[in-house]
Amino acid sequence: MAKGQPIKKTEEQIEKIKKSCQLVSATLAEVGRYIRPGVSTLYLDKIADTFIRDNGGTPIFKGYTFDKDTPPFPGSICTSINEIVVHGIPSAKTIIKEGDIISIDCGVVLEGYVGDSAYTFAVGEVSAEKEKLLRVTKEALNRAIAQAKVGNRLGDLGHAVQSYVESFGFSVVRDMVGHGVGLKLHEPPDVPNYGIKGKGKQFQSNWVLAIEPMVNAGKHHIQIAPDKWTVFTSDRKPSAQFEHTVAIFNDHTEILTTFAEIEQLTNVTIYG
Ligand code: MG
Ligand code: MG
Repeated sequence: MAKGQPIKKTEEQIEKIKKSCQLVSATLAEVGRYIRPGVSTLYLDKIADTFIRDNGGTPIFKGYTFDKDTPPFPGSICTSINEIVVHGIPSAKTIIKEGDIISIDCGVVLEGYVGDSAYTFAVGEVSAEKEKLLRVTKEALNRAIAQAKVGNRLGDLGHAVQSYVESFGFSVVRDMVGHGVGLKLHEPPDVPNYGIKGKGKQFQSNWVLAIEPMVNAGKHHIQIAPDKWTVFTSDRKPSAQFEHTVAIFNDHTEILTTFAEIEQLTNVTIYG
């Protein structure tokens, strides 16, 4: 969790962050082209790494660490299948199967500015539960973004996500949250996906936030694997995540990342 005061960005900085976000979105779409049964998550990682570097960026997750007890993250993207909530490590041994859902989380530094976005893909036909989970999680992100505006508070966003998600019998992850982003990957403030209306910091203009509901089909509890990265649901039920980077202005909020390119792919089924 990043401590301190949120950093207000200048218009020029937001333009640069937007460029980084565009590369993140293009990378997610490039990875999306290759998602199909039989492909390893390490293969997807190589696609992403090459694409980011070919476009002048650096994958910010590669070598990332929270503290001295966490080994550097080995991948350029996070690849989280089914009961993996986030931070799945790309591996040659992890092969995508029909019926899986897989979230791809990507962060990029481009000319010193950071963008961050995630999309959960369905592989072929998925169960009715997973389909509903994808719909609800994506709509939860939309509802979160609708609350992220000047005059509202962080608790309004958290409450909007939590109340919507729980109305379907699903749950929101508590132990991990969204965050400020732009000059670094994780900046203040924390952006929880749960909360109380009218509570918490007020959104201010020129904040840039990564908003990223993590929704579990079962209970909210999570566990971390011995690799210190892989986060999975304690009840092993599936989990999904969608994430956008947004910039807040006085009169509107702009979504800097986009799912449009991803959702033009013929192998991607759009839920919600
Ligand atoms: Mg992310
Ligand atoms: Mg993030």
